[in-house]
Formats: sequence, C-alpha cells, structure tokens
Amino acid sequence: MLIVGRHINGITIKSLEYLLDENNKVMEFTSEDAAKEFLKEKGFTDDECYSLAFETAGKHYLKVGQYTPATDESEEIIEREFYGQGYIFKDEEAYDTGLDIPCYIPELSDAIYTHQSFLDLMDGQEALARNLFERVDWQHPETLFEEDFASGEYDICPECGRMFAYYGRTECPHCHKISCEEERRSE
Ligand SMILES: [Zn+2]
Repeated sequence: MLIVGRHINGITIKSLEYLLDENNKVMEFTSEDAAKEFLKEKGFTDDECYSLAFETAGKHYLKVGQYTPATDESEEIIEREFYGQGYIFKDEEAYDTGLDIPCYIPELSDAIYTHQSFLDLMDGQEALARNLFERVDWQHPETLFEEDFASGEYDICPECGRMFAYYGRTECPHCHKISCEEERRSE
C-alpha cells in the first residue's frame, strides 16, 4: 500500500503532511497510478503530482511513552504517557518484533511486560495474548484478565484444560469434544 505525502509549504524537511480521507485517516492506495488517478480526479495537475511523495505505508504502530533499558552506565528509564485510563508505557511494535522486548508497563508499578508475559498469562495462545495486550490501558494485565475471566469472557475447558474466549461458544475450540456451558448447566 502507498500513502501520499506533501512537503509542508514546499520545504524539504523530514516530516510530510499526508493525504487524508473524510475521516482524517491517512489514505492508502494500491499503487502510485491509483493514487495519481485519484488526485487527478480531485483536480491535481501532473506537475503537482510530481511534487508529491509516494511512500510505502508502514504499519502504524501504537506507541505510548518510552522505555529505555538499563545500560552499564545508567538505570532503566520509564517514561509514561496518558492512554485510555491512565499513565502507561505501551509499544505495539515491541510486541510484534520479539517475545522478550518490554512492550507494556502499567500505571501503578514498574512491572515490565513482554510479549512472552502476555502469552504466559493466556495459556500460550497468541490470539488471546494479543487481545489482552491490545486492551490493557492502565491496569496490570493480570487484573484485566481476572476481570474478564470473572465476567465470563474466557472459559477453561474441563476436558482438555485449555483456555478459550467464551463469546457464547459451546464447544471447546481445542478438543472440540465438549459443550462446556451445557456441562456446567447440568452440574
Ligand atoms: Zn477442550
């Protein structure tokens, strides 16, 4: 995917302003031709198109605050920013890049969470770990998980012991053998 940028006031500096849609989201095009076609429909001339920058769209990672690991000379630095319900550090790129990179620090403690921490909490299942990571916004992940579990968003299959997102599901997605909810009702 491509995005279309313009040097602000024609000055070549690193930051560009990007073409936005009516919802103020950066527009993405499948090719430079597709982007130019759209621009011409909107009244851009060839010369004007030539002055624009067509960039490959990177994934827009969420980044809240900054974490700098300790070095031999300095201690770790945790810089929190406000997000959701509190002041936290949260780094989606770190989550995506590796299992052992700090990607989340809650508001009330300096406990450092990595992709692996989320996997450990969520039965090693990536979909569940990712969902939890995406939703933490100030609390400890354990707390959010406990709240979710208490409100029935997750269930543990009595047959195979695996955890799964409940969402009205009556069959364990892992062993497929048992209708957990029906089992529970009949107890
Ligand atoms: Zn099962």
